[in-house]
Amino acid sequence: MAGITHTVTNQVPPLVQYDVFGSDPALVEAVERHLTPEAREDGLAELSALGHTCGSAQVQEWGAQANENPPRLRTHDRYGRRIDEVEFHPAWHRLLGKGVSAGLTAAWGRPGGHVRRAAAFLMWTQVEAGNCCPLSMTHAAVPALRTDPELAAEWEPRLTSVVYDRALRPAGQKPGALFGMGMTEKQGGSDVRANTTAARPLAEDGTYALTGHKWFCSAPMSDAFLVLAQAPGGLTCFLVPRVLEDGSRNVFALQRLKDKLGNRSNASAEVEFDGTWARRVGEEGRGVRTILGMVAATRLDCVLGSAGLMRQAVAQAVHHCAHREAFGGKLLDKPLMRNVLADLALESEAATTLALRLAAAYDDGGEQERALLRIAVPAAKYWVTKRCAPVAVEASECLGGNGYVEESGMPRLVRESPLNSIWEGAGNVQALDVLRALGRDPGTLDAYLREVGRARGADHRLDAAIKGLLTDLADLEGAEGRARRLTERLALVLQGSLLVRYAPPEVADAFCAGRLGGDAGAAFGTLPHTLDLASVVERARPEL
Ligand SMILES: Cc1cc2nc3c(=O)[nH]c(=O)nc-3n(C[C@H](O)[C@H](O)[C@H](O)COP(=O)(O)OP(=O)(O)OC[C@H]3O[C@@H](n4cnc5c(N)ncnc54)[C@H](O)[C@@H]3O)c2cc1C
Repeated sequence: MAGITHTVTNQVPPLVQYDVFGSDPALVEAVERHLTPEAREDGLAELSALGHTCGSAQVQEWGAQANENPPRLRTHDRYGRRIDEVEFHPAWHRLLGKGVSAGLTAAWGRPGGHVRRAAAFLMWTQVEAGNCCPLSMTHAAVPALRTDPELAAEWEPRLTSVVYDRALRPAGQKPGALFGMGMTEKQGGSDVRANTTAARPLAEDGTYALTGHKWFCSAPMSDAFLVLAQAPGGLTCFLVPRVLEDGSRNVFALQRLKDKLGNRSNASAEVEFDGTWARRVGEEGRGVRTILGMVAATRLDCVLGSAGLMRQAVAQAVHHCAHREAFGGKLLDKPLMRNVLADLALESEAATTLALRLAAAYDDGGEQERALLRIAVPAAKYWVTKRCAPVAVEASECLGGNGYVEESGMPRLVRESPLNSIWEGAGNVQALDVLRALGRDPGTLDAYLREVGRARGADHRLDAAIKGLLTDLADLEGAEGRARRLTERLALVLQGSLLVRYAPPEVADAFCAGRLGGDAGAAFGTLPHTLDLASVVERARPEL
């Protein structure tokens, strides 16, 4: 037939129309483990439905469209009036609408709400990571707003609503609202004490006028933002609405949108404030403490987001190798490729297991669990997000040349993969936070040791790693220069202890050998070949 030059063979069927939840035993088991019996049946059914949505061709198409058609800034209308709006592709709104209706901002106060949402967030990231940014900030704003009961009563129902309403109008008239945050300024992001945005009190009622700028402000079409600014009493947290109650626009001048490596569906703006109306949240001078509740929750989302990206990368790699043949057999059956895939799968399972354990600590809310979170969230944020980029790159290589081509979806994962390590405090900042948690409150280390101690005696490599860690922790004098190594070990030992307790023996065995026992090289695919790697890979294989 004219036009046909060859028959296409040995190309892999696309990974669509599959159940993202049911195909991920590590995730399903974590949810089953952490949900209480009364929330389990309902939670599993909900996540299973979302898993099918995430794997559907329609939603995957929206994810691609939202990235191929990045947002555009409209500073002025045709008559020259400032409007400061960002125009998104319809796919962005569809994704956000689905994400909100799936309860990705509705964890608070729901039985098992954090575990359910964590699993949902981990899956939704696999569809499209950019729209997870506003979903994360909206979810995370709740604990910060709760420092002011009046504000919480007003805003919490809107934030935890399952209705997405994109219109810019007074939040009080909307069935649901989204939140962003503005901390980072040009002269400093990690060191927010260097913020220069000034807050001038307008009245005794906690209202202020802000003047200054923010160098990064993502999801700038959100309804309100938590912003840090210098009030007379010091650095303070403020709520800045985009639209005021009378319907007029607050001053929120979008200067530019960042041209980013990845996360291209999402808008990240530079913003200027000039007499911008704001409402104080918490006391003057307590801004960092107030916004910390938000930051802790977004940091956990960075862990979940990276776990999701890794899971998607591994699912694609295993799927590809299960279908692609080379040198007379499936790639999956080649001992060296099996080693690579198993190594990647271990990283993904360890990340998922740790992330869900931390979400369960949020649901528990008790003192012990809160102490664990104080050390484990920055440790996990450091380590899991650091592992994401090498996993994404190696997983792409499993697809050969196809993995380097946009339509495989892998380049998008690779571009996205470093981001969770940067925002919400980059790697060093997390490692220093771990030191701070250790130094400030001995209860955090006790909580950590109690948790990992539950696995003691089950694996000699884990026992030796705990012993080594205790030696490292014995003297923290001058530990700043070794904070990364220490944090890595804290995270690895915690991951190892969870896998030994909960994962199938072949997964725990391979993790302990490769990550704790020193039996693997620096690159993926260097696990001892005598391990049961075939079972590790089989567990990670998504079913079409
Ligand atoms: C896509 C994107 C979206 C973003 N969206 C938002 C947003 O919506 N709102 C917002 O407020 N911010 C946002 N940010 C900003 C982000 O949170 C900051 O970029 C990040 O916290 C780092 O701050 P910085 O860029 O000022 O770097 P710096 O603070 O200058 O840090 C540079 C490097 O130095 C390291 N470092 C800092 N202090 C120390 C130390 N004491 N010892 C050793 N090393 C140190 C850091 O780990 C980092 O690697 C966004 C960033 C990106 C990339």
